[in-house]
Amino acid sequence: MRRILVLSDIHANLPALEAVLNAAGECEAIWCLGDVVGYGPYPNECVERVHQLSNLVCLLGNHDAAALGLLNLEAFNTEARLSLEWTQTHLTESSRKYLSLLPEKVVIEQVTLVHGSPRSPVWEYILDRSTARANFPFFDTPLCFTGHSHLATVYQLVNGTPDPHWTVPQENELITLTGRAILNPGSVGQPRDHDPRACFAFYYPDESAWELRRVEYDISAVQERIQQEQLPKRHAQRLSQGW
Ligand code: ZN
Repeated sequence: MRRILVLSDIHANLPALEAVLNAAGECEAIWCLGDVVGYGPYPNECVERVHQLSNLVCLLGNHDAAALGLLNLEAFNTEARLSLEWTQTHLTESSRKYLSLLPEKVVIEQVTLVHGSPRSPVWEYILDRSTARANFPFFDTPLCFTGHSHLATVYQLVNGTPDPHWTVPQENELITLTGRAILNPGSVGQPRDHDPRACFAFYYPDESAWELRRVEYDISAVQERIQQEQLPKRHAQRLSQGW
């Protein structure tokens, strides 16, 4: 079966990224839905690791844009802003260059890829059915993959109704997609569904199927590094609780 690794919101968490890449094994392609940096203590390491991957498509996220100075930091909460300021001062020239070339929207294999939503690729959160419903007219492909919320979800149009059916996929459950759908693979580096394990998904294009996966990683190593770099403690605490 052809298999594509879909991941998002790494947020400068290298141990989580490595765990996901190891767990995923061989894949035909890797689609990364943005926010490689922000919050976490390994921004350059994560950019370099992503840069090395072959058959990769990587999108621009709001934290990536903010780290480049393309968004006003006032739009972020205090702790997110502090980590973005830290990220801005620590990003190398080559990391900045890599992030500055990332696209906001890509259409590939009949799938639209964005960080936030097809209507507003870098900013909008799809957190409920009405926002999902409003976004279906903003892409032409059968499927759209988004990140940004850090929550694994499937919004699917079934039986021709305009109101999407909303589901939270179970781990390792193979979901066959029969209607147009907006799917989110959750977050690699900062899951927010109270499961602290790194989250990612496989997309099987020939079967039009989706499978959510989780993997453990060394959370305490990331927490120690956050402390050493004097990044906000809250970003360390939330990793072990998944919020
Ligand atoms: Zn994010």
